[in-house]
Amino acid sequence: MFGVPRFLVNIAAMFTPLDQQYMRLAIEKTREGIMAGQTPFGACIVTSGGRVASCAHNVVWQTTDITAHGEVNAIRAACLALGTIDLSGCTIFSTTEPCPMCFSAIHWARIRRIVFGASIEDAKAAGFNELTISNDRMKREGGSPLVIEAGCLREECRGLFREWQAAGRARLY
Ligand SMILES: [Zn+2]
Repeated sequence: MFGVPRFLVNIAAMFTPLDQQYMRLAIEKTREGIMAGQTPFGACIVTSGGRVASCAHNVVWQTTDITAHGEVNAIRAACLALGTIDLSGCTIFSTTEPCPMCFSAIHWARIRRIVFGASIEDAKAAGFNELTISNDRMKREGGSPLVIEAGCLREECRGLFREWQAAGRARLY
């Protein structure tokens, strides 16, 4: 275990095979986006009963909408599918730590839990114009009841940035 930061070991231990399965749906959706010339972010929302309510990737370039992040798109689709604006009890699986805009939307939707793979710092390192305010800090300073679990399939999620760059259509914002 020498050389492995202790917090990563603890984080990695808490994800169930089911968590990883849902994250893989978000990863696959992200790959669809990459192939369509979009940025490497995706999310899916799962109800407390285990039903996948939505799965979406970022469509900022496709729609000329700077707010069309994967998480926002997934929230819109889940609310539409479930006929409600209240996603209490749901979990959102996001390939990257939600940005402050998406964190706020997740809070407004009353989602219970955020599970993410790569961090905002990873997205910033890939060149995105991120506000580097962690979800932990948003939760703490905003007083949100959201449960935040970091690092699910982190290496696979970080790999999406490389896949996106290798696909040859990478455009930043
Ligand atoms: Zn966002």
